[in-house]
Amino acid sequence: MPEPMDFATRAIHAGQDADPTTGATIVPIYATSTYTQPAVGEHRGFDYSRTVNPTRVALETQLAALEEARYGSAFASGMAATSATLNLLAAGDHVVVTDDLYGGTYRLFSKVLVRYGLEFTYVDMTDLDAVRAAIRPNTKLFWIETPTNPLLRLVDIAGVAALKTPGQVVAVDNTFASPYFQSPLALGADVVVHSTTKYIGGHSDVVGGVALTNDAAIAESIKFHQNAVGGVPGPFDAFLTMRGAKTLAVRMREHERNAHAVATFLEERDDVARVFYPGLPSHPQHALAQRQMRGFGGMVSFTLRGPESRALEVAKRTKLFSLAESLGGVESLITHPARMTHGSIPKDERERRGVTDGLLRLSVGLESARDLIADLRQALDATRALAGVGANDAGIGDPPNPDRIPATQSEGAPTY
Ligand SMILES: *Cc1c(COP(=O)(O)O)cnc(C)c1O
Repeated sequence: MPEPMDFATRAIHAGQDADPTTGATIVPIYATSTYTQPAVGEHRGFDYSRTVNPTRVALETQLAALEEARYGSAFASGMAATSATLNLLAAGDHVVVTDDLYGGTYRLFSKVLVRYGLEFTYVDMTDLDAVRAAIRPNTKLFWIETPTNPLLRLVDIAGVAALKTPGQVVAVDNTFASPYFQSPLALGADVVVHSTTKYIGGHSDVVGGVALTNDAAIAESIKFHQNAVGGVPGPFDAFLTMRGAKTLAVRMREHERNAHAVATFLEERDDVARVFYPGLPSHPQHALAQRQMRGFGGMVSFTLRGPESRALEVAKRTKLFSLAESLGGVESLITHPARMTHGSIPKDERERRGVTDGLLRLSVGLESARDLIADLRQALDATRALAGVGANDAGIGDPPNPDRIPATQSEGAPTY
């Protein structure tokens, strides 16, 4: 077999050996907090389940294989994984952060970690000069999210990695792209963090996180804090996440296909002001997306014409797109970032970053693209009077033929 094996194969086999005691083909849920030792000081590497649990180890091995990382540590949530990564720092250290950031990460940095003496500078990381200008003598970490949430802007991972000097760490929150479409470690990042709650778990039924690296010292520090702080996932959660991750390749291909169809539909409407999707040629960083990613993912954001009340009304009227936070599951979701995911960011700060009141974010699921588009169409048509674009029939008509939904670059021949 070729080494390394292709992504889809790793997703199904890495860490998934038959159980050594029974031969169970599927990794068992080891619901145990402790392990019986034959004699004092003798055990088989398992002593206490905060420190180590076989189901969690299987998950960590699987997810490390997906990022082609040597080391992985699983956590009870994406925030716990982020927090453990920030444990690499000490009081007085400085972090350069992308300003178009997941709301919970902003809250952790600005409300919790500043109290422990860490300093954060938020910059528009799409501008490498701004990143360079933000570096201080005490800068220890660059925190990247790409594509960003909710505006789906891209940060040039290799570009930021080229700015770091020895001793500095580049961390990437790779939740939106998933390891199927983007490999930050190969682009020069030192640590990758995921909220496995999203695409990796993939079924909106479990919360989790993971931190992955090829650097032995970083891995040791994260493992140490995983045990010392204790934000570990239980074996049931590890099992569910592992089961979801096995189908990541097929799911991501289909998420992308549907997202592309939805983004194209939205862009053609005159009552939609702007569509944000890295796979559209109109995306200002489409070229970077093609260079840095193997596909463009399943998230689409758009700004409606009309007042905020229209955005709220559309979010209420969609039926297949459930009005809910989170993303990355098989079911489609719609959110109003300004009032939901980004509600913890002050309004002026939020608007400065482009998270306006007319913005809606879609997590495009795995339903039929034709049905998803019809659902959006009825919500947009019903609120069209609020858009101030006249009553003509733009965007109103027969549903598209699903056979003509555009293929995307990932189709057929993913890089792996
Ligand atoms: C959801 C999310 C997180 C936080 O993960 P939890 O599992 O909810 O703790 C971090 N970053 C991004 C980009 C997310 O979408």
